[in-house]
Amino acid sequence: MTPEEFRSAGRDLVDWIADYWERIEEFPVRSQVEPGWVTAQLPTRAPQEGEPFEAVLRDLTDIVLPGVTHWQAPGFHANFNSGGSAPSVLGELAAAGLGVQGMLWITSPAATELETVVMDWLADLLGLPEPFFSTSTGGGVIQDSASSATLVAILAARERATQGRGNADGLPSLDRPLTVYASEHAHSSFEKGVRAAGIGSGSIRAVPVDHTFAMDPDRLREMVEADLAAGAVPTIVIANVGTTSSTAIDPVAAIADVCEEFGIWLHVDAALAGSAAVLPELRWIIDGAERADSFVMNPHKWLLVNMDCSAFWVADKHALTSALSINPEYLRQAATESGSVIDYRDWQLPLGRRFRALKLWFVLRMFGAEEIRRIVREHIRLTALFASWVEADPDFEVTAPYPVNLVCFRHVGGQEINERIMDTVNESGEAFFTHTVLEGEYTLRMAIGAERTEEHHVRKVWDLIRAAAP
Ligand code: PLP
Repeated sequence: MTPEEFRSAGRDLVDWIADYWERIEEFPVRSQVEPGWVTAQLPTRAPQEGEPFEAVLRDLTDIVLPGVTHWQAPGFHANFNSGGSAPSVLGELAAAGLGVQGMLWITSPAATELETVVMDWLADLLGLPEPFFSTSTGGGVIQDSASSATLVAILAARERATQGRGNADGLPSLDRPLTVYASEHAHSSFEKGVRAAGIGSGSIRAVPVDHTFAMDPDRLREMVEADLAAGAVPTIVIANVGTTSSTAIDPVAAIADVCEEFGIWLHVDAALAGSAAVLPELRWIIDGAERADSFVMNPHKWLLVNMDCSAFWVADKHALTSALSINPEYLRQAATESGSVIDYRDWQLPLGRRFRALKLWFVLRMFGAEEIRRIVREHIRLTALFASWVEADPDFEVTAPYPVNLVCFRHVGGQEINERIMDTVNESGEAFFTHTVLEGEYTLRMAIGAERTEEHHVRKVWDLIRAAAP
C-alpha cells in the first residue's frame, strides 16, 4: 500500500466507523447469529493474492457486523461496559501507526515516559495515595487486563512472602505452605492468578461476606490467625472495590488493618468501580487504599478507553521488579544500566508491549476531567433512577446495594420468570443484560456505563422488562 492508497483507505475506514456509530441503534444489541454462522461465510484458506481494500471493507459490513455484539450501543447493559470513545479510537490508531514496541525505555522513550506521566495523571484524578506516584516509591503501569495485573501482584506478594525462594527454587522447596484470601465474591481472575503462580486453588481462603456482599474483615482475621497457627504463610489479600456480581465494596481500611498486623500483601481490585473515584463524592469507595501494596482499575471498562487498558499501581516498585525482572545479555544497554529510566518490561509478564498510553492520553486530554466526571456521574444518576423504578414496582425487588453503576434486581416470581424476561428482552435486540446468583437466587444485572446511554434508553429497557413480565 502506498501512502496515498493508505490515506484513501484510511478515510474510508474512518467514515465506516463514524457511520457505524451514527447507526448503532439500528443493530440488535446482542448479535443474533447462530454458532458457526461467521465461520461459514469465510473461506477455509487465506487468499494467495492480495485483495483490494474495498473487498475487505465490504466483508466487514456483510460478515463481521452481523456477528458483532454492540458494546457501544446505548442499550448495552450486560457484564460491565467496555469503552470505545472516539478519542480513544484515535489514540489506538496513532499507536498502530507508530508501530512501536515499548519493552525498554530505549526502544521508544516516549512510550515509557508518556505512560509514566498519564498514570500519574490518572492516579491524581482518582485521588490515589502518594506512594503510587512515579515521583514516590512506587508507580503505575498499563497492563492488558485486570487479570494480568492481579497475577503480577500475586507474583510480587509470593516473592516477598518467600524472600525470593519462590522464584529461585520453586514453591516445593518451601517448608511452609502459602495461603491467599479474597471474599467469596472475588472475580475469578484471582483464582486463575493463584493457579498460574503455582500456589494452587487449595490455598485460597474464600472469606465470607456480610449482608451487602462485602468481605467480613473479622472473618478474614480469624482465617489468617488459624492459618498462622497451622504453620502457613498468609501471602496476599485481594480486596474487591466493586465485585463483579453486585459491585459490593469490600472495606479496604479494615482489611488493611489485618494485612498490616500480619505483614500480608494487600491488592485492591477496583477493575470496574475504581472509575467512580474520579468523583469526590464517591472517593470513599477506595478509603484505605493508601495502605495497599497494589491497586488495579480498568479505564477500558467505564473510563471511555477501548480495550485494552488496565491501570495498575504499586506502592513499592522494587517489590514488583524484583519478582519480574530478568536481564539477559541481548537486552542490556546503557540507559537501563544507569538506573535512570523505567523499563516497563520489568513490570509485567510479557517482554513486548504496545503504546497503550496514547489512547489514555487522548481520552484524558480530549474529554478533560470535568467531562469525564460528568459522564460517570450521569451513569450513576441513571442507575439510581432505574433502581427507583424497580423499587416502586411490587412485582420486582432490588437485591443488592447499588453504590456505582449496576443494579441487581429480580421479579419476585422466581428463576423461570426472570430467565424468560431476560431472554425476551435480549432476543428483541433492543437491549442486552445478563444475570448472576446472589444468596442462591437468580438475579438480573443492569449495568449502565456506555457513553451513549441516556435516560430515555434506560426507560425503554425498564418498559421492555415490565412488558416481558407476566
Ligand atoms: N476484576 C473484577 C472485579 C472484574 O469485574 C473483572 C471483569 O469484569 C475483572 C477483574 C477482569 O477484568 P479483565 O477482563 O481486565 O481481566
